[in-house]
Amino acid sequence: MTQNQKATHSESVFKKIDWTPFLFLTLTPITAIVLTAIYLKTEGLSLPIAGLFVVMYFLTSFSITAGYHRFFAHKAYEAHPLLQWFYALFGAASFQNSILLWAADHRVHHRHVDQDGDPYNIRRGFFYAHIGWMLLKSDYRKSTDPYGRDLRQNPIVMFQHNHYVPVALLMGFGLPTLIGAAFGSPLGGLAVGGFLRLTLVHHMTFFINSLCHTLGRQPYTDTNSAKDSWLMALFTNGEGYHNFHHYFANDYRNGIRWYHWDPTKWPLGLFAWMGLAWDLKTTPEEKILEARMQMDERRLRSQLAQRFDAFAERLESLKQKIQATQTHLGELRRESARLRKEMPEKGRERLELIRSELKAARRELRSQLAQWRMQIAILSRQGNPHPHLSHP
Ligand SMILES: [Zn+2]
Ligand SMILES: [Zn+2]
Repeated sequence: MTQNQKATHSESVFKKIDWTPFLFLTLTPITAIVLTAIYLKTEGLSLPIAGLFVVMYFLTSFSITAGYHRFFAHKAYEAHPLLQWFYALFGAASFQNSILLWAADHRVHHRHVDQDGDPYNIRRGFFYAHIGWMLLKSDYRKSTDPYGRDLRQNPIVMFQHNHYVPVALLMGFGLPTLIGAAFGSPLGGLAVGGFLRLTLVHHMTFFINSLCHTLGRQPYTDTNSAKDSWLMALFTNGEGYHNFHHYFANDYRNGIRWYHWDPTKWPLGLFAWMGLAWDLKTTPEEKILEARMQMDERRLRSQLAQRFDAFAERLESLKQKIQATQTHLGELRRESARLRKEMPEKGRERLELIRSELKAARRELRSQLAQWRMQIAILSRQGNPHPHLSHP
């Protein structure tokens, strides 16, 4: 790239930046570090402020995973209006856009995963899927239609959407500052319960789009990049079982076994018992097993096909060598016959030479044919994974 091209390139990147999210997403972590450092230096960490951090972290991240994601975007269960208000208020405190925009984006992500239409397409790179997609002006979202149509009928969703900024500021920064003040430290409340908590909740959620499409296993499907990983589940409030989630998106759980770390599903069980949530959707066990078996079969098929391709390549090259040796043999035979007929005296020396060449070519052909038979025998043994068991 020339100097001029470089300058034009950086100019065009500059033009593409969406400045509001760019400044917000870069300045909040810096503010979190600076304010937390000042707070720790001047006042020292108090137990109520540490508790405020834990409670605010859980309430706001839970509102994203259980509310924005599993309830509003996927309708994995029904929720009482009280619970919906709770999600709308504490979800706003996570500063990830209104429910309407978040859920519409997320539905598009599921619909077009790994393709051009996917708002956080992992094929555009880890950084892009994590945060880059929010820093640049988007060309994918012209409107929330049709993906947000049903949500626009919900008055709680629309109230939050229409009053998003004041609600988010009040819940995300105002509330923790007030609670901090009640415990004698408004600065601690704002720094730790506000900015630090917000930065961590942000990146926890962003990991779902970046790491959960990068690290882990694919037990249910390999038709998209979503991965299952218990380690990611620890970081993401249980959303790390993302391969399962992309295959069975309407299940209210992401970790389906009792021992799967999914702190989003456990409170939902409690809310169901309290009557705040109902109709919690779960995928029938036989469907889950069917998906796993299908995936095992697909994986085995592709492994066998790869192994077969390697053999086929080896056989093809051997076949060409055998054919070349055969052609060479034919030429030598013809040459030897001609020499014997045409010039029995003069050509004696040449004839001797051809005879030894013929011998060598026959030897070569025998060895190549032996190799061929050996390859065929190995390949047919590969078809039977336990030959020693079938021939005791
Ligand atoms: Zn995903
Ligand atoms: Zn989802």
